[in-house]
Amino acid sequence: MCDSEDEYVKDYKKVLAMFIDAEFTVAIPSNELDDVVSTDKTIIIKHTRSCYCYGDEPLPTLYFTVECENHNELTNKYIIQELIKQNLRMNCNHVYLEGFHNLHDNVYDTVVGS
Ligand SMILES: [Zn+2]
Repeated sequence: MCDSEDEYVKDYKKVLAMFIDAEFTVAIPSNELDDVVSTDKTIIIKHTRSCYCYGDEPLPTLYFTVECENHNELTNKYIIQELIKQNLRMNCNHVYLEGFHNLHDNVYDTVVGS
């Protein structure tokens, strides 16, 4: 539970330390990392690069396939670890990964903030 500003900052730093290799900032509270995002075996993560940072020159949307191995579930943590392995980078002002949003079927997009 994060019931004060200090607790919030402490938790945020703890999460950052867990994903030290990420080329983006995980802004998901530690108590939500084990939340199951999907019960599917394979999901597609869509990362659009058409925010205002890119002005009139948006970059192509990136797609990452995340597969669930037998003993694993597609939790926030597992998906983030896969995205790090697959070299997801956030090169604009929107570097804060806040979660995954179900678009349709097994397709999710990244929820990002600045
Ligand atoms: Zn941006």
